[in-house]
Amino acid sequence: MAFVVLVVLLVLAALGTMAPASHDARAATGALASPAPATAPLRAAAVPQVTMSVRFDPETRLLQGEATWTIPAGVALELSLDRRFNLDSVSVDGRPRPLPTGTAAAGSTARQVIAIAAAPSGTRKWQFRWRGELAPLDRTIDHRGVIAALPPMASPRGSYLPAGSGWYPETGSPIHYRVSVDLPANQRAIVPGRLVSESTDATGSRAVFESQLPTEGITLMAGPYRVDERMLALPGGRSVRLRTYFVESVHALAQDYLAAAAAPIERHDREIGPYPFDGFSIVSSPLPTGFGLPGATYIGEAVLGLPFMRGQSLAHEVLHNWWGNGVRPDWRSGNWSEGLTTLMADHALRAAQSPDAARLMRWSWLRDFAAVAPGSDAPLDRFTARTHGAASAVGYGKSAMLFHMVRAEIGEATFDEALRDFWRSHAGRTATWQDLQAAFERRAGRPLGALFTPMVTGTGAPSLVAQSIRAQAAGTALQVTFAEPMPYSFSLPVVAWTGTRAEPGTLDLRRGERTALYTVPGGRMPEALQFDPGFSAWRRLGPGESPPLLRDAMLAADIRVIVASDGDDGWKAAAGELAKRMLEAQRPAAARPSDLDAPVPLLVIGRHEDIERLGRRDPRLARPAALARLPDAALWAARGANGAPRLLVSVEDTASLIDLHRRAPHYGAQGHVGFRNGRAIVSGVGAIETPRIPVSP
Ligand SMILES: [Zn+2]
Repeated sequence: MAFVVLVVLLVLAALGTMAPASHDARAATGALASPAPATAPLRAAAVPQVTMSVRFDPETRLLQGEATWTIPAGVALELSLDRRFNLDSVSVDGRPRPLPTGTAAAGSTARQVIAIAAAPSGTRKWQFRWRGELAPLDRTIDHRGVIAALPPMASPRGSYLPAGSGWYPETGSPIHYRVSVDLPANQRAIVPGRLVSESTDATGSRAVFESQLPTEGITLMAGPYRVDERMLALPGGRSVRLRTYFVESVHALAQDYLAAAAAPIERHDREIGPYPFDGFSIVSSPLPTGFGLPGATYIGEAVLGLPFMRGQSLAHEVLHNWWGNGVRPDWRSGNWSEGLTTLMADHALRAAQSPDAARLMRWSWLRDFAAVAPGSDAPLDRFTARTHGAASAVGYGKSAMLFHMVRAEIGEATFDEALRDFWRSHAGRTATWQDLQAAFERRAGRPLGALFTPMVTGTGAPSLVAQSIRAQAAGTALQVTFAEPMPYSFSLPVVAWTGTRAEPGTLDLRRGERTALYTVPGGRMPEALQFDPGFSAWRRLGPGESPPLLRDAMLAADIRVIVASDGDDGWKAAAGELAKRMLEAQRPAAARPSDLDAPVPLLVIGRHEDIERLGRRDPRLARPAALARLPDAALWAARGANGAPRLLVSVEDTASLIDLHRRAPHYGAQGHVGFRNGRAIVSGVGAIETPRIPVSP
């Protein structure tokens, strides 16, 4: 299966609006280029080799291809080709075959299917010729559309033929490939993999790429690119070809991106192990994509200029060359690569900013999980890729938190050594959660199953709000009792409070036990304990730890909209458009100010004076102090009856409401945001207060 990267979140996060626990998406299919010297080339005998030559014209969108599948003995395959193409010929070892008649549905499109039985001995060469018309590039596809499976698309502005779209006779299992692409002279193509050769003259441009490690499909990108290159020297005489394939409108960013890509490649090469590819290319896309591919990333032109993309997002995609594309997750037992990448790229960057920035990111993982309906989360060993919010809260957030907890248990140095071992033994291969656990256990010298197994195979999260804390008779320890037995064993960070004095410590929690003993440092009895105020454990947030966010209302299915101010048609249309852009619900019902007491989710849009009046009537709806100096437009989240989400939108006039249309939908992860002249000038989440549980006398 392919890893495909998501886009939306990336774009949102890029706008500085979400806590981007995880921004990319799943995407990564394509080729690995030649392995670095320290990574043994693995050429599994049973992996088919695809040698392919394609030619297409982005103007007419006509594509012609021919491919030879060299299939080892004993390998049965089912190839499929999108119905938009005509299969002109099929032959086996040079002998023509009748054209296949079988079809199958693949997503929304029909496929023609070529079933290939295993040959008892000797390799066979299956040859195919096909041609057809690619879909026009649909520039209206938004981030939601990009998450779905896309057809192969072409236009003079850019072409994208993703693995899995049936643009060549393909299968989802690993292959080796060598691909030659012919295009008009003003176009350049890129396929993930080692650049074998390239040439351009008046008649056209040609480039040849090849994989050396098995990979699960072929992705082709093309466009009117200008190519910039820089060779990055690595220790041991190795080098990496860094390239940008940027269209003219973003070409000015090329040098910045080449520099930005070099730093994380050098760092991870030193800290984890040799960079596994010959090159790394950053490719601009006319679509709102953020896809990670082996040795490449495909990023929307519209967001390339945002600092976030060059920083956190690029760092995340670079690290996927180790975790995800270098060592591939064994899809049958869960994708561990998003969590490890999120911890070692996104979280590490936050930690470099400040401990509090890292704490806020970990909190956002727990906050995302708190939004998942109880009982609807799947275990980590079932996660493959982000397809909806619940999957992402587990596959990115919970997974990253597990690695964070393991690191706290065994220490940073041991954790890093274990990952170097894991890289050495698995580069170019697949690996499971159990392989990772074994690597950590070997270095730590102790079993970690009581943490790993329940975190990987279980669901839910425990509440770590203690029910009672009592002094032991001896007076040097406290007995802490929780509402439910602990699902896993780990060391929980605790802060002991006496007056204003805070003393950090840890509480050893044992799987299956409801109580634990806290040894009081220095023997002085504290007045209260706070459990995990740094958000370092996978747990349910306690009361006070979950201030409302704009997203709560934005995602509510049964939301209603109140327009709290009268106005002309222009005002009404602007309010309707904002609701449409901000809310997940397609047709939210209208409501009246008198419905404000109802325990249902509400979006309330009005002019400042009218929203102010509502806040005086119900203080829960009042504008937060952070927005005290009232901007042109302000949005904040609140809670109404029964905790029902409220999203208040308070604006100066129709013009300031229209200014919100484009930007406001990106601020779902915030609790409040204020805009002046269409730009956000203040945003944040409300106070996060971890409860202090008093020690019983
Ligand atoms: Zn990722």
